[in-house]
Amino acid sequence: MMFKNITIAGGGVLGSQIAFQTAYFGYEVKLYDINEDAVKAADEKLDKLVARYTEFFGDQSKAESARKRISTTVNLEDALQDSDLLIEAVPEKKEIKVDFYTQVAKVAPEKTIFATNSSTMVPSDFAEYTGRPEKFLALHFANEVWKNNTGEVMGHAGTDKKYEEEVLKFAESIGLIPLHVLKETPGYILNSILVPFLEAGKKLYISGVADIETIDKTWMAATGMNMGPFGALDVIGLNTDYHITLANAEKNDDELLLKFANLMKEEYIDKGNLGVSTGKGFYTYPNPSFKSEDFIVRLGQEK
Ligand code: NAD
Repeated sequence: MMFKNITIAGGGVLGSQIAFQTAYFGYEVKLYDINEDAVKAADEKLDKLVARYTEFFGDQSKAESARKRISTTVNLEDALQDSDLLIEAVPEKKEIKVDFYTQVAKVAPEKTIFATNSSTMVPSDFAEYTGRPEKFLALHFANEVWKNNTGEVMGHAGTDKKYEEEVLKFAESIGLIPLHVLKETPGYILNSILVPFLEAGKKLYISGVADIETIDKTWMAATGMNMGPFGALDVIGLNTDYHITLANAEKNDDELLLKFANLMKEEYIDKGNLGVSTGKGFYTYPNPSFKSEDFIVRLGQEK
């Protein structure tokens, strides 16, 4: 194993999962977040992940040991002490990430490789702020890391290939399927497919073509998939998706998408309904209507 100490920055939806997955596979993990409240929220997420990992892997003592290998801190320098790899999972906003890399470049040890988990931005957007462009790349996780275990590794033109290889090996060592994206592209492989799919659902809804359940039902019934775009948005988290939707709406001057972003903010996010993580989003959990037996009635299965 090349790496020993791993630092995660940002203990939100993805950062907490990445921290847990990494610790579960034996690494020492330090999780950094911006203030005491955010660290407390991250600790709570990590505590809940003990149950999720136990349920998924069937080994409670291993999940409990993993939790003990993660320490949380608001001190960036402490978080990076002797760090082999930093995985950044701070909010999907360019200014926040630029500011983060500018700070981290000043305090990280020379050996530390930096990996961004950004879903919509590319390493070349930040390389110049890292102070180590050759050791900077993306390692992109999917939500519910333990189950959806893709690890997309993508450098920018100035990344040294040997670090891409090392991070691919690291990804494999934490139970991910290592996927080498050979050429920098926004959205990697996953989001090049997922984002247009979600946008199509949003536009059908906001332009009044069909309601949320009908859109999801059509997709699920016709393809055999187990959720539609709105069920997927609840899993991703409305907060994360809101930033992506807003950025794309503004970039492409897309009025429909902007209208949908505003709806997400006013009707859901401002009311604390962020999706599965809060028990309510477009659907209500733990028993959303799209999972009920009568949501899709197939021929030969009528009651
Ligand atoms: P989130 O909003 O749930 O969490 C972000 C965390 O970063 C919060 O805990 C926040 O307190 C913290 N933070 C804010 N400013 C910070 C700073 N300067 N330094 C350190 N921490 C800071 O967001 P998320 O959904 O976990 O997304 C994080 C990253 O992961 C984004 O780049 C996103 O594109 C990517 N990602 C998200 C998903 C997903 O499904 N949610 C999937 C793949 C990748």
